[in-house]
Amino acid sequence: MSLTKMQIKDLLDENRVHQCDHFGEDFCVKIVAIADLPSRFGDFQIAAFTNNKDDKEHVAIIHGDVCDQEDVLTRVHSECLTGDVIGSLRCDCRDQLQSALEQIGKAERGIVLYLRQEGRGIGLVNKIRAYGLQDHGLDTVEANLALGFRDDERDYGVAAHMLASLRVKSIRLMTNNPKKIQELEKHGVHVTERVPHVLPSNEYNRFYLETKAIKSGHLIDLHGKEHLLEQGDRPIIEGMPESLIQEMQQSHQ
Ligand SMILES: [Zn+2]
Ligand SMILES: [Zn+2]
Repeated sequence: MSLTKMQIKDLLDENRVHQCDHFGEDFCVKIVAIADLPSRFGDFQIAAFTNNKDDKEHVAIIHGDVCDQEDVLTRVHSECLTGDVIGSLRCDCRDQLQSALEQIGKAERGIVLYLRQEGRGIGLVNKIRAYGLQDHGLDTVEANLALGFRDDERDYGVAAHMLASLRVKSIRLMTNNPKKIQELEKHGVHVTERVPHVLPSNEYNRFYLETKAIKSGHLIDLHGKEHLLEQGDRPIIEGMPESLIQEMQQSHQ
């Protein structure tokens, strides 16, 4: 069952007058609109937010009744125009997003927080700049600098407030990164379980299965080219060797 008209009206009324005096942060987030969003992955509703922290228009893609609920299956996804929309193979953002939507679409209830922080928060232009640097002989230092200074605190703060705005009481977070849970908890989110984010293998994510080295959260492929993570954590691909999964989880520590 999705959010009812009455629940939507309540949320919007509440958010119209909401001001953050109790959330313990120096910014505030508001839900400004909610609408039905049937999709190829199931029936969803979409909630659009504004905030006075990064001025980006973040959204929550909601399946089922999530208000006042415990253990809501949740995925936090960062926008990637090249991956999500165009199907770029430089990253696996689209696979990760689709897999999360499919799983949540089949669950009783769940949420994808779609955060508009392209290129780990540095924007599309800088991301393409970093890609360009990689194309021209892999200037790792510069490429890392261009992509590497993401402000994780900000992201999790806004994400945490979005969940609070939706009156979500606790979540089961789809992630392979224990650190992400710590960061969300720091901002007051109650995470009751970590659900491993596992993707079916296909021709597009075979790169992960062939990967031979992982360094500080980055991947080096068989051709010695470095791939930078655009989502905060790597997915587990079905068929991935156990040793790689372990190495991957250690790299988050
Ligand atoms: Zn607030
Ligand atoms: Zn991407």
